[in-house]
Amino acid sequence: MKNITYAFTAASAFVAMPQTASATPPPPLNYTPEILRDSALADDVMAYEIVEGLTTEIGPRQGGTPAEAKARAWAVQKLKSIGFDNVRIDEYRMPTWVRGEETAEVTAPFPQKLAITALGNSGSTGDAGIEAEVAYFPTLDALRAAPDGSLKGKIAFVSHAMQRTQDGSSYGAFGPARFVGPNIASKKGASAIVIRSAGTDYHRNPHTGNTNFETGVTPIPAGALSIPDAENLERMLALSQQYEGKPVRLKLKLTPKNIGMQTSGNVIAEVKGSNPNLPIIVIACHLDSWDLGTGAIDDAAGCGIIAAAAFRLTWMGQPKRTVRLLWAGAEEVGIWGGKDYGAKYVNEPHALAMESDFGAGKVWAVDFNLPASAKPVRDQITSALAPLGIVPRQQVAGGGADIGAIIAAQKLGVIDLQQDGTKYFDLHHTPDDTLDKIDKAELRQNVAAWAATLFLLANYEGELKPEPKP
Ligand SMILES: [Zn+2]
Repeated sequence: MKNITYAFTAASAFVAMPQTASATPPPPLNYTPEILRDSALADDVMAYEIVEGLTTEIGPRQGGTPAEAKARAWAVQKLKSIGFDNVRIDEYRMPTWVRGEETAEVTAPFPQKLAITALGNSGSTGDAGIEAEVAYFPTLDALRAAPDGSLKGKIAFVSHAMQRTQDGSSYGAFGPARFVGPNIASKKGASAIVIRSAGTDYHRNPHTGNTNFETGVTPIPAGALSIPDAENLERMLALSQQYEGKPVRLKLKLTPKNIGMQTSGNVIAEVKGSNPNLPIIVIACHLDSWDLGTGAIDDAAGCGIIAAAAFRLTWMGQPKRTVRLLWAGAEEVGIWGGKDYGAKYVNEPHALAMESDFGAGKVWAVDFNLPASAKPVRDQITSALAPLGIVPRQQVAGGGADIGAIIAAQKLGVIDLQQDGTKYFDLHHTPDDTLDKIDKAELRQNVAAWAATLFLLANYEGELKPEPKP
């Protein structure tokens, strides 16, 4: 590993910092989470380096593809060089869908091209493409209300009103246009569907993302229009109604294909705890990205944040609990890595899970799901985070996609360090998800919050799983 000089604002006692997790014996436990936190605030090396490395040396790395395999090899080398224990790859197989050509154009009454991208699992129009009348639905509920069979021979167009929200909740409200809209349109007989991108920017970048068809439902061609193009199409629909009643016709060419079962995998690394009897803490990000951008905010940033924080933990000697890093594979295309982790480690006792997968914006809130008995550690975490501008909320922490399976299997404790998502959906799943969007100061603030939280958790020996729900 490179010889890096770390700056300290509060830790004059730590002049010679160990450079690796494994090579240094544990010093006495006479430090504080504040030292970790403040040192992370002053440093911008590791988390940013990881984002830079993944976006530059690998680039787009869709689950199940050779690019994702390259990312795993890169990750192993990186995590070993940092000095983590037990660095390894857990492979699994998964069905894999890949993008083909993608074009859209209005052929009547106002001919022009539109910016489109296929949704993951979209069916193909074939090379000839398809041309059909557009059936407009201002909301997903309007599509749901359409009579069965009424979309036969038509291309459904579903719009929505996704907005900027700090907590990202608008994605939960309007994302279903993408998640389930195509399945609904197919069942009603549509020959294809286009949606307004689930996004908040006004660039001409369509936002991709997975959609899912139920077994037995035909995967029709399904694409997302950029938001300016979706609004243009809405204006055309309104005009055509107003003046001549002539239908708006769209020509679509989407030629993605399924390439069958491919290998994907999780990359695992650990900071080994001193007490093997204590259930472990798992912290997750995802290594794969969508294919359009280079996956800087989604989710190289998360991998950088958790690795930099776990590395800092090792500076303070060996923690009591093992902290395991899960750089999950194939999250975007179906959470294959998270599900594989949950199945593979179901019998290994875990205590708590955390995930970083909401970009690189500042952490602004912390949510907990801990037992009442863990109030002391919860209070310590809250006060360690307060100087970073992080407020405790009453919301119950839910975790994230990649830790969902293990949380459900073992009813784990969860802490969510909530990132500011105001700008996240400007970039999410677009070609614009690139390194230049990372704000180093905000990234450091994330590492600082994670480092302090992990330190307190990994040295807390009490129960972390919440009481069973009645
Ligand atoms: Zn993500």
